[in-house]
Amino acid sequence: MACKSVKELQEFVEQARSVTDKGKVATYIPALGKENPSDLSIAIQYPDDTCISAGDIEKKFTLQSISKVITLALVLMDRGFDYVFERIGMEPTGEPFNSIAKIEGEQARPLNPMINSGALVVTHMIKGNSVEERIERLLSLICEMANDKEIEISNEVASSEFETAHLNRALGYFLMEHGLIKEPIEELLDLYTKQCAIEMNCHDLAQLGMVFAMDGINPISGKQIIPKDIARICKTFMVTCGMYNESGRFAIEIGIPAKSGVSGGIMGAVPGKFGIGIFGPSLNKIGNSIGGIELLKLLSNKYQLSIF
Ligand code: GLU
Repeated sequence: MACKSVKELQEFVEQARSVTDKGKVATYIPALGKENPSDLSIAIQYPDDTCISAGDIEKKFTLQSISKVITLALVLMDRGFDYVFERIGMEPTGEPFNSIAKIEGEQARPLNPMINSGALVVTHMIKGNSVEERIERLLSLICEMANDKEIEISNEVASSEFETAHLNRALGYFLMEHGLIKEPIEELLDLYTKQCAIEMNCHDLAQLGMVFAMDGINPISGKQIIPKDIARICKTFMVTCGMYNESGRFAIEIGIPAKSGVSGGIMGAVPGKFGIGIFGPSLNKIGNSIGGIELLKLLSNKYQLSIF
């Protein structure tokens, strides 16, 4: 269904837009550098299939790190809790998402699935006989969550990242040396950069958030897409590690399970109530959408959305 534009939400967006000039668009993936820093949009999707929005919600962006939550859900369904958490931990790091620092010691086991080292191990666990089959499995889960069969990969962003992913390659080889990755690193990076380049608009993203908010059920199709327990694990990681190394501040000031990506996307899941999709490519120093955080602060304060 189409989203209905709402005046109060538009006012919040305009207020939050005023901070976007204090941030910067990510450029380490060259294709992301083309975005307009003052863009800011939001969609809120309710379980009764109503949706409210503000800003240009047709604008598409790539999921980047937001995809890590969905791949985690997929591999937990594929492999089970014990297999996954023998290979990655559950603790926040306090380090930037691409840090190489904390994987030394503890047999190189990454501390959690939301940092790049952990995400590479998770992506490695996606079942399938080829990169194509594995990415198709992830895409079909995402399409089912978003009630949109047309979600695709931005080949431009995927190849832009593939060509410049030196740090992720280094992480991959380190993890391979320690037996946590057992496939060619180029193949894994092909899959990982495609996963990060899955492209959608705010409305789609709000629907993904809604599935987590509703304990893994897609209320529009009526299907339990992700088992309740796995949705709970994903939401918990969103709280403890979803907003990079400012997840603690975000939990205190906003208190909504959320995951951001360097494209400027934020997926929020307000338990039992609704899903949120935000796009605002101007990022703060930590890598979170600066306008998106401001917008969530306004919303959370006004409507008491903190889960704490
Ligand atoms: N594809 C990005 C990377 O691995 C994702 C980072 C992010 O959004 O945090 O560097």
